[in-house]
Amino acid sequence: MRCANINYTNVCVTACKFCAFYAAPKDAKKGWSRDLDDILRRCAETVELGGTQIMFQGGHHPEYGVEYYEEHFSAIKAAFPQLVIHSLGASEVEHMAKISGVSAEEAIRRIHAAGLDSFAGAGAELLPERPRKAIAPLKESGERWLEIMEIAHRLGVESTSTMLMGTGETNAERIEHIAMIRDTQDRTGGFRAFIPYTYQPENNHLKGRTQATIFEYLRMIAVARLFLDNIAHIQGSWLTVGKEAGQLSLHFGADDLGSIMLEENVVSSAGAKHRSNRQEIIDLIRKAGRTPAQRATTYEHLLVHEDPANDPADERVVSHISSTAIEGGTAHPELKLIATN
Ligand code: SF4
Repeated sequence: MRCANINYTNVCVTACKFCAFYAAPKDAKKGWSRDLDDILRRCAETVELGGTQIMFQGGHHPEYGVEYYEEHFSAIKAAFPQLVIHSLGASEVEHMAKISGVSAEEAIRRIHAAGLDSFAGAGAELLPERPRKAIAPLKESGERWLEIMEIAHRLGVESTSTMLMGTGETNAERIEHIAMIRDTQDRTGGFRAFIPYTYQPENNHLKGRTQATIFEYLRMIAVARLFLDNIAHIQGSWLTVGKEAGQLSLHFGADDLGSIMLEENVVSSAGAKHRSNRQEIIDLIRKAGRTPAQRATTYEHLLVHEDPANDPADERVVSHISSTAIEGGTAHPELKLIATN
């Protein structure tokens, strides 16, 4: 699919140890926020390039409560009703609810009414207590993360689920993570997909001391396909493991390679330098012996690429065109970053 990760701020009070993206609220030199005009301009770029979805992704800003997300989602939907807002996760809900002094349920109801279509499942990291405390000690517990996702599903807001691999967790903890997701899914049926991805080693407190191998990653895809018998889709993360491993994942149980992300700054900041374009992803899937198709957020096929002669020819559909994280990134010169302090 085609989407943009629109990063609205990197200011964050949560200081996860694997994260290379955030700036502490006091760090005026590193911290930035985008204003609404910039965000709308990025949405316009996404629409112009045929994108169908945005992932609104950012830090836990100490001043951004439910009202901030209501204002932004309603403005985006008013200007671009065709864009699906597939964004955030239980951690952001917990944070915004606390800032606004409301329950998680009220926060979800309000941002859904303002335009949020589904949750991207951000912040799952590792759900079991030991590895979660080791890498994200200020985040809510794994149980709370699932509880908030369960509330969302009950309110009709579906989500994907994710897993961060390679920060020193054991195989038993990996299985515990997917078992916790499977148990929740048995009750709600609201997880559309499971998306494991790998920790990127640069510019963060963990300093790359641990990493998941490609073998471990592919094995997790295969185990997830068998173990998560109640989740329809498994996504291979070519952005973090590379295009070849992403291609292989299609033979280990993945049925989806995510998106050409027109903008991405979060895992790029931590060293994920894999980039691609639409034609390359189509070729990669075809060479794996599969039929490539562009999908919607809800997994319906929008365009099936049966015949190479009819492949789309728009060369502008390239990942990270707006990335500010990669040296030499091609951010549009008018897309300014706004200092927060
Ligand atoms: S992963 Fe998210 S919550 Fe954690 S420090 Fe980074 S931006 Fe903040």
